[in-house]
Amino acid sequence: MPELPDLEVIRENLAARLLGRAVQGISVRRPGLVRAGPPDLSPLFGKNLTEIARRGKHLIFRFDGAPFLLVHLMRYGWLWHGPSRYEVTKSTTMVLSFDDGTDLRLIEPGSPQIAGVWLFSDLSQAEPLKKLGPEPFSPEFTLEHFSQALRGKRRMVKKILTDQSVVAGIGNAYADEILFLAKISPFRYVHTLTPTEVEKLWRAIPETLRWAIGEIKSRVGENLFDKEIRDFLYVHGRAGAPCRVCGSPIGEVLFEGQRTNFCPRCQNVSQPLR
Ligand SMILES: [Zn+2]
Repeated sequence: MPELPDLEVIRENLAARLLGRAVQGISVRRPGLVRAGPPDLSPLFGKNLTEIARRGKHLIFRFDGAPFLLVHLMRYGWLWHGPSRYEVTKSTTMVLSFDDGTDLRLIEPGSPQIAGVWLFSDLSQAEPLKKLGPEPFSPEFTLEHFSQALRGKRRMVKKILTDQSVVAGIGNAYADEILFLAKISPFRYVHTLTPTEVEKLWRAIPETLRWAIGEIKSRVGENLFDKEIRDFLYVHGRAGAPCRVCGSPIGEVLFEGQRTNFCPRCQNVSQPLR
């Protein structure tokens, strides 16, 4: 599932290609894809794309004189951009055709197809955004806010990092990387963290995400990509491989259907759960 760093690079690269272009064709190819607004997305027809923003794991397309289009790729969704003359594949669930002869397509190769798009005239009324916590790069994401969100919580620290109401945009992979950078075990309970550890964790969040954006950007350049680029990560997806810092084998625990990777030595994991 794409997380903040993936989406930031997609956002930037799409904006470089599509800002100022007008929508000349719309095709919604899966019933239920459009969760709010006319199911055929007709209000976007003929409108110019003026901005692509991101909030949490949502991309927000702003058009001149039209509602905002929110896109959440969920688990398997990806955005493709290329010549309109290319054949539309079976797994394509939405096509926006622009006046430069290119398409922006939402493609969901996996199953179930659960990506969603919404049209909202007023973003403050956008249900999917209402419960999101601050953006990790925003001035609102202060140490005070973060400490307050953690206070008294008897939850595992990894759960807190992926809780979109605490901080927006982090998923399973980058939560592992943030914890590795902060040298904190993913299995620690939040209420056992010292103030120093909370601060280390808070600093590790934007630092990890910024680093990841740079790494992804350096690999894809101006291109889009259709799977996560994660070869540079320290722990996530590297079970059994030597830690790049201390050489210990990276550990892995499957818990509630989620894969968690960590370095037992760097993160001082004495007793992983199950
Ligand atoms: Zn290590």
